[in-house]
Amino acid sequence: MNMFDLNGKRIAITGGAGVLGASLVQGFAEAGARIAILDLAVDRAQDLARQLGSGHIGVEVNVLDKASILTALETCISELGGVDILVNGAGGNSPGATTSPDLSFFDIPQESLEFVTKLNLSGTILPSQVFGKYFAESNTGNIINISSMSATRPMTRVLGYSAAKAGVSNFTHWLAVHLAQEYSPDLRVNALAPGFFLTEQNRFLLTDKDTGELTERGNKIIDHTPQARFGSPEDLIGSAIWLASDASRFVTGAVIPVDGGFSAYSGV
Ligand code: NAD
Repeated sequence: MNMFDLNGKRIAITGGAGVLGASLVQGFAEAGARIAILDLAVDRAQDLARQLGSGHIGVEVNVLDKASILTALETCISELGGVDILVNGAGGNSPGATTSPDLSFFDIPQESLEFVTKLNLSGTILPSQVFGKYFAESNTGNIINISSMSATRPMTRVLGYSAAKAGVSNFTHWLAVHLAQEYSPDLRVNALAPGFFLTEQNRFLLTDKDTGELTERGNKIIDHTPQARFGSPEDLIGSAIWLASDASRFVTGAVIPVDGGFSAYSGV
């Protein structure tokens, strides 16, 4: 199983203090990697790094600000000696860019649309520019984006986020080809496309805020998921370790569904 070994690898993960990010951080650390947890919520990032023990760091970053990303990269280089893998995990949905009985498509505010598009799409492209340049200079590096099932199977109501994640999947294909052809065939770019994981970003859509019971929409998702449950954050770890490690060395430009079979099921 040596090909899955992450010993000696240094991984920078944006949004690493979030729900899915923190689970990936834990999994990567257990596989032997040293982690730079990059997050706007620097206190949570540093707490998490302390819990993991020495060799891991929490670093402040705003993925929408190139100067901040560059500073974070410089910190990774000085503290970890370099970076081998970038995981673009910062992202999320926004109720303001989601239609509801009180908010029609026609009235979605421009600011909400731009917020969610920027966070998910620009927030993936900008760190890939900064870390990608660093990878290209050494002809080695690996980028893992976090797309979503909503990129290919857009969910009703979820307008802005679905469009932004479609952009993330498209960018994953684009950057994989660009880096391999223009810089080095050893530079890889892939994405995970999680299905439905019950976390803060979708709790307001899938559960009743007063009772905690599944909403009609929540039940519908379970009915359309052959594995008949929501994902739990640990369900992403195996695929992420595979993409981060040499086990996937001939895989680039791929968007891997981790969705309990949701994307395979026609509903009939
Ligand atoms: P989360 O909200 O728990 O974590 C997101 C993290 O990103 C937070 O720690 C937040 O502080 C950080 N962040 C926000 N804006 C930032 C910025 N400008 N700069 C740096 N960091 C910033 O979300 P999550 O549920 O863990 O989702 C993680 C990723 O997985 C996101 O890209 C999300 O879209 C994607 N995803 C989630 C699900 C799901 O069901 N939860 C499904 C598919 C994809």
